[in-house]
Amino acid sequence: MRFQQKHNFNAKSGNFFLFLILIITLTSTTSIFSQKKYVVVIDAGHGGKDPGNLGNGFVEKHIALKVALAVGEKITNSTDVKVIYTRTKDTYPPLWKRGEIANTSKADLFVSIHCDSHTNNAYGAGTFVLGLRGNKKNLEIAKRENASILLEENYQERYKGFDENSVESVIGLSLLQEENLDKSLEIASLIQNNFVSIKRNDRKVKQDNFQVLRETIMPSVLVELGFLTNKIEGRYLNSTKGQTQMATAIAEAILKYINNLKINTIVATTDTVTPLNITETVIDYKIQIASSKKKLATKSYNFRGLKGVHRQLVKPYYKYYFGQTNDYEKVKGFLKLVKSRGYKSAFIVAFKNGEKISVNDAIKMQ
Ligand SMILES: [Zn+2]
Repeated sequence: MRFQQKHNFNAKSGNFFLFLILIITLTSTTSIFSQKKYVVVIDAGHGGKDPGNLGNGFVEKHIALKVALAVGEKITNSTDVKVIYTRTKDTYPPLWKRGEIANTSKADLFVSIHCDSHTNNAYGAGTFVLGLRGNKKNLEIAKRENASILLEENYQERYKGFDENSVESVIGLSLLQEENLDKSLEIASLIQNNFVSIKRNDRKVKQDNFQVLRETIMPSVLVELGFLTNKIEGRYLNSTKGQTQMATAIAEAILKYINNLKINTIVATTDTVTPLNITETVIDYKIQIASSKKKLATKSYNFRGLKGVHRQLVKPYYKYYFGQTNDYEKVKGFLKLVKSRGYKSAFIVAFKNGEKISVNDAIKMQ
């Protein structure tokens, strides 16, 4: 009996240690997987001295804040997302400050939330990314949202060169912002898809020159939830039901976007050069137009209108090439074209069976 008891005790303590080991293993495994936190900055438009638009007596700054906080709350539950708000109360952080918050926190995504207004009965939800292709009507919305700047002290100094009516201001996009365009378009269309699925009138993804988007250096979108000037839509956006539905639509789009980011990170590492299995010698010439650690979509809008750009991962860089020919005279023509598009430092590269060799060697072999 005594022996039995002792034996039981040992067995129990053995189980206890197994249990301890299991707990330690689980905890350490979890910490390995939760290392990367995706930082999402949520910006409630306007605030404080800047009420935004006041269509039908509804107040844009209040609705924007409620929806922004609800979006944040929904995505905070995801273990690998960290939410930062530009404001959580009825205050007015200047537009540059909102950008700075996102930039210094090295955010992966910036989402600014607003409500629209119009003199007619327009209604529907739209999402904007920074870009050149805004039409005149979009420019009007951008002007209205940018008007906040005029309420800020020293705005002439903070936004040097800002002229809402000047073409130069509109097209002065930095390369970094161009690089983010593709990702911004992706999150924007995910948001719009979700708006459509809750039966909002689809005002589509559009590009325009919102100052708050110009201040950030990561993929960024500005959501116009709908029109307060439209009585029915204003009432919807001012209701708890409307705010919850819109916030859920945005939050689910953000989580999907982050999931895509995770998948793409894994895909990127396998996007390496595969050696070609060719017995005869094939010489190819291409133009290298850029080399960057950033993975850019090879769409023409990312490359000053050049079509047929292709990307190759030569760790740790992505190389961006234009054209492919075995004719040296032809590739010189490509180089001229690329330089005329502003890629002054572009150059010819040569490949033998897919492996890079010097251009001189390539010419000799031919
Ligand atoms: Zn606004």
